[in-house]
Amino acid sequence: MIMHTTLTDSVEEAAAILNSGGVVAFPTETVYGLGAGICHPEALLRLFRAKGRPADNPLIVHLSSVGQVAEVASSLSLQAEQLIERFFPGPLTLVLKKNFSVPYTVTAGLETVGVRCPANLVAREFLRLACCPVAAPSANRSGLPSATSWEAVMQDLDGKIDCLLRGTPSAIGLESTIVDCSGERPLLLRAGAITLEQLRTVVPEITTVAVTEPEERPKCPGLKYPHYAPKASILLCTEVEKIDLNESPAAYIGTAAQPKGVALFKVCSSLEEYGRELFRFFRLCDASGIGVIYCELPSDEGLGRAIRDRLMRAAGLA
Ligand code: AMP
Ligand code: MG
Repeated sequence: MIMHTTLTDSVEEAAAILNSGGVVAFPTETVYGLGAGICHPEALLRLFRAKGRPADNPLIVHLSSVGQVAEVASSLSLQAEQLIERFFPGPLTLVLKKNFSVPYTVTAGLETVGVRCPANLVAREFLRLACCPVAAPSANRSGLPSATSWEAVMQDLDGKIDCLLRGTPSAIGLESTIVDCSGERPLLLRAGAITLEQLRTVVPEITTVAVTEPEERPKCPGLKYPHYAPKASILLCTEVEKIDLNESPAAYIGTAAQPKGVALFKVCSSLEEYGRELFRFFRLCDASGIGVIYCELPSDEGLGRAIRDRLMRAAGLA
């Protein structure tokens, strides 16, 4: 169904639309989110439809303040409390045991809920004006690169959602780090801008999914779906010299010097810039008819772990 999408700069207008049962996209520091109030069951269903998101992929619940965690979680481990104390508000999602107020539509039937308190000030004001916590996946069509600007949200969702609260481009450009704190041992489910090394300064015992026994793995249903993929093929490279330009029109993104002969390139001066630009560049390549995008594969440490994860998934290798 085609509907009118209100494009606004007014946080009050966007919150009023959300509070009347609307589906509203809004800026955050990670990527743009697509929100529906957890107290609006119809809006939650419309959100899944607008994105084309499978019903078994749970949504992260966004809170305006740390104090709201108690509204959605039934209990907190000591480690969860320590991570909240250190990293909230910010680009970190914690999976916690849910309480009765969180519907199973949001958690895809799980007894746990992902919660995050964004640092972006527009997001916080929007969430403060919302009449209940806001479930919000990334504001892109399922499977495509996440939207890191309001223009990218419009490209994917214009006519499918009620409102887009316009903001600045996402400062981080990669989705939140996710840590499951609902079990015996905290587990990194998705790498992000809060790095494993930073997390371990607070909770040294955090493990990664790869080193856990299969039967111990808690579910992170979203990780089984294809993600972040542009139309162009992704080829991962560690050395620009090895790039084969017979595959053109080709593009390159990474931190190494610009390879000769590519039609489009983005040379980033830091991993932070690489993370921020990655999805924007993927969308630009698709709009420019690029066939192959060569992406530098960073090493598996610090922010490199998150960029690597997105690249592997975009390339269909994870
Ligand atoms: P997105 O909002 O599009 O970045 O996707 C949210 C991610 O969080 C997906 O990979 C979900 O599977 C994951 N997630 C959300 N809630 C939970 C939960 N309760 N348990 C495990 N993973 C979750
Ligand atoms: Mg997503």
